[in-house]
Amino acid sequence: MRLKSASFAWKYAAVGVILGLGSPYGLLAFRILGSLEGGLVEWIKTDFQAMKWIYLYTGAGSVIVFSLFGLLLGRREDSLLMHTRDVEGAAQDMERLSITDGLTRLYTHAYLLKRLDEEFSRAKRYSYSLGCLFIDIDNFKALNDEYGHVFGDLVLSEIAGAINGEVRDSDILGRYGGDEFLAILPQTDAAEASGVAERIRKGVEALRLHAGGAAVIATVSIGIYASDKLPSEAKEIMESADSALHQAKRVGRNRSILVGQ
Ligand code: GH3
Ligand code: MG
Repeated sequence: MRLKSASFAWKYAAVGVILGLGSPYGLLAFRILGSLEGGLVEWIKTDFQAMKWIYLYTGAGSVIVFSLFGLLLGRREDSLLMHTRDVEGAAQDMERLSITDGLTRLYTHAYLLKRLDEEFSRAKRYSYSLGCLFIDIDNFKALNDEYGHVFGDLVLSEIAGAINGEVRDSDILGRYGGDEFLAILPQTDAAEASGVAERIRKGVEALRLHAGGAAVIATVSIGIYASDKLPSEAKEIMESADSALHQAKRVGRNRSILVGQ
């Protein structure tokens, strides 16, 4: 990793140069204070004439010593800073990986449950409406059986991408498990949640997934919960959305059904 701003080594070396310049001018100042008679400019000229090698020697010596010291100190600080940034970057990567599903790049089951609890508490406190979509791929087992699990994995990640394209940045979308996804929609009422669900359903249906020469069409069923009259526990929201999903499966799949309100 490279540092973007000017490095500490060069900054400290510059400070060293300034400190180094202090010594001949300090000497000059003390000598002036010690013998102030006659014209000041004249005195300086004469003194420079008489002492120029001393001024040069002390100036050059202290500039070299201080700037080298600054350079070494700054290099040490640069490497410490780079190390700190590497460690911070690795910690952020680890945190992101720990809450991300490897196949779909969506949030994990555990993270979804944590965020549902948080959004549930927020919605209760401020009397916001909260939406929740349970999304399940239709007849996914048959698709796996016919085209193989490698193709099944591709379908999962394509569908995840299509769903992700239909939700807002502030929504929380994750893979609940297997071929099921959960979308938490903060501050979303029933009409909006139904609109999102239908956009997702149509978006997935419009995907053309190529297995060999064949273009395969996949569909999803969606159970929708949305209300500002929330139950006493967050898990009841998921249970409601899940039962709406089962209803959607029962009545023919490739549809969304709303509960709650
Ligand atoms: P339904 O319309 O009722 O949802 O039928 P379904 O076949 O989709 O449901 P079922 O629960 O019977 O099958 C889900 C399948 O999802 C079974 C399992 O093999 C498959 N599956 C789960 N996780 C993965 C995965 O990571 N990759 C692949 N390729 N398949 C998976
Ligand atoms: Mg399924």
